[in-house]
Amino acid sequence: MTQHSHVVDNAERHRYEILVDGQVAGYLDHRSPREGVIELPHTVVEDAFAGRGLASVLVRHALDAARAAGLRVVPTCPYVRGWIAKHPDYAALVTPVVEVVEGAAAQVGNFGVQRVLPRRGRRLVGAWCFADHMGPADVDAERSPGVGPHPHCGLATVTWLLDGELLHRDSLGSEQPIRPGQLNLMTAGHGVQHAEEGTGYAGLFEGIQLWVAQPDATRSGPAAFEHHAELPRIDLGAGTGTVLLGEFAGAESPARRDTELVGVDLRLHGTADLPLRTDFEYALVGLRGGVEVDGVRLGPGQLAYLGAGADELRVRVPERGRAMLLGGVPLTEPVLMFWNFVGRDRAELAEAGRAWNDGSDRFGRLDSPLPRYAAPEAPWPA
Ligand code: MN
Repeated sequence: MTQHSHVVDNAERHRYEILVDGQVAGYLDHRSPREGVIELPHTVVEDAFAGRGLASVLVRHALDAARAAGLRVVPTCPYVRGWIAKHPDYAALVTPVVEVVEGAAAQVGNFGVQRVLPRRGRRLVGAWCFADHMGPADVDAERSPGVGPHPHCGLATVTWLLDGELLHRDSLGSEQPIRPGQLNLMTAGHGVQHAEEGTGYAGLFEGIQLWVAQPDATRSGPAAFEHHAELPRIDLGAGTGTVLLGEFAGAESPARRDTELVGVDLRLHGTADLPLRTDFEYALVGLRGGVEVDGVRLGPGQLAYLGAGADELRVRVPERGRAMLLGGVPLTEPVLMFWNFVGRDRAELAEAGRAWNDGSDRFGRLDSPLPRYAAPEAPWPA
């Protein structure tokens, strides 16, 4: 049915148009976010021409043109991503989006952090829903990064230190010091409370605190805690990667995961090609030094959202750098966050706040030398 169609580049309107008997039957927008890259944000076929495979013709034309011109492609349009997934010989054209999100200063207890997730316009990366870069800062008994007892539900907390020490204690009875290179993973399910206390450590402190939203299958289930002192480390040529969660480059973390996701601490010097899964969306969180993705420089306190669809990521680190790669299958369930809770609707989140402030058994018991936090008023009308 497409024998009378042909595609033209309407440069003025920044789109490829498919003409059927001289009429515009559909189009594919394009723009150039940076040199050497073409972004394909949107594909449209007019209703009168639907079902003739015209969208497919447009996409193939745009990708062939990009290949001939030596351009790499950012497939922002989900239809284009799906098309490439069905035509893997085009996958090598795909390059990450690289959307840099600036962190914002926030306070956790007495400690200043840079919050890079959630931010306006970027709330999730797979099931990753929260990321605080803590420090670097000098700490001692007076100025500790500790936080008193507070509750969680519907999420897992991932604690990872670059320098320093913390003592994790929770209402399951866990009492676990954590040091650099070790993973503390607490799954909240229906409810748990924990505190992170100082150990008397004095010196440089730096770390990253992450949350993973739990899926419906486990979010109302029991709480759990895991400590992993040993995690797989992979050689990337220009550095190493430690796999905190999920599977990366053939190495798999022993830690629990409730959705398909990955978290890797990358320590690099030089250029590394990181293997990606085309069904994951990814982000890099800058921790130390400068890390470059497709010519875009990422520093500490910044997150680069990389989108989905690419099977490889080239990272260039001119000197030495450290960054956390986060990825996962995009969540289809709605994720709402309020204070320390993740849920699906406001009523559920408000109920969790009331239960905590009323001292409900839902979050168990925990005695700590640090003060207990009260839940704030929900920010929406009752
Ligand atoms: Mn917490």
